[in-house]
Amino acid sequence: MDAEKIAEYQKKYPEVFAIVEGILERFPELDRFIKSQGIVKDQINQQAEEVLEAVAKDMKPYKAKYEVMREIPKTGKPREEVLKILQEMRDQERQKWHGGYVSGAVYHGDDSHIEYLNSAYALHSQSNPLHTDLWPSASKFEAEIISMAARMLSEGMNEEDRAGLCGSVTSGGSESILLAMKTYRDMAEVERGVRHPEMVAPVTAHAAFDKAAQYFKIKLRKVPVDKNFQADIQAVKNAINGNTVVVIGSAPSFPHGVIDPIEQMSELARKKKVPFHTDACLGGFILPFARKLKYPVPAFDFNLPGVTSISVDTHKYGYAAKGTSVILYRNTKIRHHQFFTVANWPGGMYFSPTFAGSRPGGLSAACWATLVSVGEKGYLDAATKILGTADYIKKEISKIPDLQILGNPLFVIAFAPSKISADSLDIYRVMEQMSHKGYSLNGLHRPACVHIALTLRHTEEGVKERFIEDLKTAVAYVKANPTEKGSSAPIYGMAATLPVRSVVGDLLKTYMDAYYKL
Ligand SMILES: *Cc1c(COP(=O)(O)O)cnc(C)c1O
Repeated sequence: MDAEKIAEYQKKYPEVFAIVEGILERFPELDRFIKSQGIVKDQINQQAEEVLEAVAKDMKPYKAKYEVMREIPKTGKPREEVLKILQEMRDQERQKWHGGYVSGAVYHGDDSHIEYLNSAYALHSQSNPLHTDLWPSASKFEAEIISMAARMLSEGMNEEDRAGLCGSVTSGGSESILLAMKTYRDMAEVERGVRHPEMVAPVTAHAAFDKAAQYFKIKLRKVPVDKNFQADIQAVKNAINGNTVVVIGSAPSFPHGVIDPIEQMSELARKKKVPFHTDACLGGFILPFARKLKYPVPAFDFNLPGVTSISVDTHKYGYAAKGTSVILYRNTKIRHHQFFTVANWPGGMYFSPTFAGSRPGGLSAACWATLVSVGEKGYLDAATKILGTADYIKKEISKIPDLQILGNPLFVIAFAPSKISADSLDIYRVMEQMSHKGYSLNGLHRPACVHIALTLRHTEEGVKERFIEDLKTAVAYVKANPTEKGSSAPIYGMAATLPVRSVVGDLLKTYMDAYYKL
């Protein structure tokens, strides 16, 4: 990466560079390194490691407290001793998310609900859906999870079309998305002879689509969003071509919680005979209920004829345990392109519907148990509480003159400095002040902003008022101390705003190395 290239990036992304300036001030090593020329990879890694040492320390708070298990112990430790350690860690880590200090992460979190999930899991902890003969219960659970999700996302549609809806239970939103993208790549090759596949997605689509593009060698054409953070329809239209295997929209998007114009986007795709995927990982279990509660929810599900698949996360607002999601398709013809079979393997006839071979049947049992115990009434009540909390938080943030809410969100609220404070307020420092108070919010970029995904944790008494008070205090503090340097910017906020791509990638890889260090 040479100086010329950096200058080119600077012209292209002026607002990013403005943020970078602030970050570089905090990390003089990085500053020196970025500004130097003819940087080689080794140097990048060395520098990144220095910066990350502090971050890595935060990642290993138990190092001093508990024995580091480098090897399998010669003789096993007593179970009570092991469980005591697990219990202590759980207690330590529970405080933040349980107290409503965290964006997203734990979406339900009531003790009795967790106990119920654990009992369901415990009863089926040995189940492996790979062995359909041994655990027919897994087939019942998964078929019914898929049906319940599909019917939730097709209400009002004619029953004949509804009967064709199908899907798979997966390990999470990313797997649901990866599977759908692989499915469309293979389908386009078989049906249309597409050899150079492309996807079309707004820049705000989840990173899992970038991951799919990388893993499966699909070119990802990213289209910009408008001032409301919704996909630009004209740009979507221009991006679709003969190699397009799928068009994507979010309901809502992870960064700003905004729903793309799914109806128009899916119609564009349908007219060109291209599949359309709605990413409802985040919204799938809220939007149908928000609509019943008369919140403005545009069409996004199978009622739109162009929508050919939907990803929806049971482990988010479906309130199941972590590790399940559903990928839904309009018909089994599409789903066949997802399935894997091999007939000549010496290990026998082998087939598997998703990426994993062996799978945790206990998680499907717990997911099924959640859906059937929460029920429509339970989801409606949860949506009522979450959306009411969101209304309060949006109203109160809009009263803070230095902040503005981005787009028109329902329950994931992104805020940035308002026009009057755009030059004077560093939103990442506001986030840092919040983290000093125990919060864990998401730092986003392009533009620089912070978001909170509201969950049932935030609907507990006094939590929303405390959040607003703490936010006001944080903004006031940053305004009163404009020259103070932040102590430690979170890696996300820092790395995400660096202009040089290779630097960012290496920083994040070093971060992952640190995660796996003893
Ligand atoms: C969470 C999320 C995903 C990815 O889900 P994981 O379960 O984290 O793999 C995809 N899209 C959106 C909009 C999400 O919010």
